[in-house]
Amino acid sequence: MLRNGIHHSNEISLAECMEDNNGGLLYRGALYVLEDNDLWLRLLKEHHDKLSAGHPGRAKTLELLNREYYWPQIRRYVDQYVRNCNVCTRSKAPRNAPYGVLHPMPIPDGPWMDVSMNFVTDLPESDEHNAILVVVDRLTKMRHLIPMTKEADSREVARLYIDNVWKLHGLLNTIVSDRGTQFVAEF
Ligand SMILES: [Zn+2]
Repeated sequence: MLRNGIHHSNEISLAECMEDNNGGLLYRGALYVLEDNDLWLRLLKEHHDKLSAGHPGRAKTLELLNREYYWPQIRRYVDQYVRNCNVCTRSKAPRNAPYGVLHPMPIPDGPWMDVSMNFVTDLPESDEHNAILVVVDRLTKMRHLIPMTKEADSREVARLYIDNVWKLHGLLNTIVSDRGTQFVAEF
């Protein structure tokens, strides 16, 4: 992955890239998302449209997205997306209004006590993997990227989690996942 594509882009310098333990590509600590409009759209929906996101403005949407993901021209993509968002255009309410209704996540007690789990799917296939399980420690922001297949069921995901995260960091309190809370029951 490092060799293909990266040095064709003039926005990214190799010095700012590193591979994580599982061979995922990190750019300035964020997961580099290959050019894939469907995937970009999905990530935008997750970071802008979802109830927990609450239709933040352009800058905030970009900031949220940049915490975990990066791709060239990401700013322009976000600008365009938010400008064309139906809900944002229709709503006359202040952009940050939904924040007040949500309870903020409690601050974790220690490292690897509370993690968030996301699935990046529809990646170009490599070594029989076509998805990445992204596990982020909510306190330290340390992350593990675990190659997987998007067909994996929750049992398999639990197995991946145990092998790749639990063995290193041990028990935890909560997992926030974009597939809901189904995995908590498996541990
Ligand atoms: Zn919106």
